[in-house]
Amino acid sequence: MSTEATGKEQGPDRNAQLFERAQRSIPGGVNSPVRAFRAVGGTPRFISKAQGAYLWDAEGQRYIDYIGSWGPMILGHGHPAVLEAVHRAADEGLSFGAPTEREIELAEEILELAPHADQVRLVSSGTEAAMSAIRLARGHTGRAKLVKFEGCYHGHADALLVKAGSGLATFGHPTSAGVPAEVVQHTLVLTYNDVPQLEAAFADFGAEIACVMIEPIAGNMNFVRASLPFMRRLRELCTQHGALLVFDEVMTGFRVGLGGAQGHYARLIPGFKPDLSVFGKVIGGGMPLAAFAGPREVMNKLAPLGPVYQAGTLSGNPVATACGLATLREIRKPGFYEALAARTRSLVEGLQSEARAAGIPFSVDSEGGMFGFFFGPALPQDYPSVLATDGQRFNRFFHAMLERGVYLAPALYEAGFVSAAHTDADIAATLEAARAAFRSLA
Ligand SMILES: *Cc1c(COP(=O)(O)O)cnc(C)c1O
Repeated sequence: MSTEATGKEQGPDRNAQLFERAQRSIPGGVNSPVRAFRAVGGTPRFISKAQGAYLWDAEGQRYIDYIGSWGPMILGHGHPAVLEAVHRAADEGLSFGAPTEREIELAEEILELAPHADQVRLVSSGTEAAMSAIRLARGHTGRAKLVKFEGCYHGHADALLVKAGSGLATFGHPTSAGVPAEVVQHTLVLTYNDVPQLEAAFADFGAEIACVMIEPIAGNMNFVRASLPFMRRLRELCTQHGALLVFDEVMTGFRVGLGGAQGHYARLIPGFKPDLSVFGKVIGGGMPLAAFAGPREVMNKLAPLGPVYQAGTLSGNPVATACGLATLREIRKPGFYEALAARTRSLVEGLQSEARAAGIPFSVDSEGGMFGFFFGPALPQDYPSVLATDGQRFNRFFHAMLERGVYLAPALYEAGFVSAAHTDADIAATLEAARAAFRSLA
């Protein structure tokens, strides 16, 4: 792709022109780092519109979209019921800074799908929800330490920016500048799926651990599942030591199934439930909305009832809640996730067989509408083994697919998403592109 700017308003170099212009007024030309294509190189596509399973860039090029705004667009872009709800809500008012009936409706919908929780508070981003859940866990337990796992991303709150995956790993920084060591001194970072290390951490610090936060199916180091023995032991240790188990389901919630990852693990481990849950992405349906939820005795610690302060000018925004509610009502329709999961499986199984045909070591996994693939023969179980997969090959594959009109996440640390708008024909076109792309790599 040419990066020469011609100064023309339209034409084949429009993405490059916009990128150059963006970099003058916006750091790196983007408002969230991974959008800059730094990991894969090349020019980011500036998106002008989206409909169903497709995006169009500033040059009029169409792409089959497997990012879906990084998860929220589970119904595809421009779903009529969602747009209608948003338009109607906007007509009634953009923001009130006062409670609305719609917030109750959304809270009730979320609680029905997260049976461990009695109450939920709405916020505006996953970062805010995760940060607030940590404060609540610390306030509730009166303890300071928190445990997270290498490769899991929980937003960019200071205490959680420790060896996080996603954009940070892409830039090769183990942590962010601007976060004093004192701020993360209570954050323990452990290896995902490592039971002995988890046991050792609880043996050393059990009485000081307020909570363990985990991506139960990690989507910020591509796609890595917590193993059953690991999840079972994690639950036991949290219960034994009085630490709260916090499921960060910002990505997996209402994405891997109607009951999220917690529903998935509850089916595999009888009686399993987290103590707190963090949601985002799908629950906003594409608008800024996120939430954290838990049992009444914990949620009662939040202001105005309790001593843990948390607030937000735009929290429970009427347009965002309308968008989220309309989205949740669609995904609750019978058969929604069965169809989504089957389509996602047909995509990853197809990718696997095309890679095999081209003689390329490749592994895939999916759950519901979320998937991952790796250039390596076996699925990684932790972050170091994700890093050991073939990143060069991933980058070449990414560009080979992009050239053929398939928009995958521009970094190997990211999960992919299929929406209800993706048709069998879209999957078939994707696999045809993949066949050519794999051949070009072999
Ligand atoms: C996206 C994400 C976040 C952060 O959400 P934002 O809305 O981007 O702040 C937190 N946790 C997980 C698991 C995520 O995937």
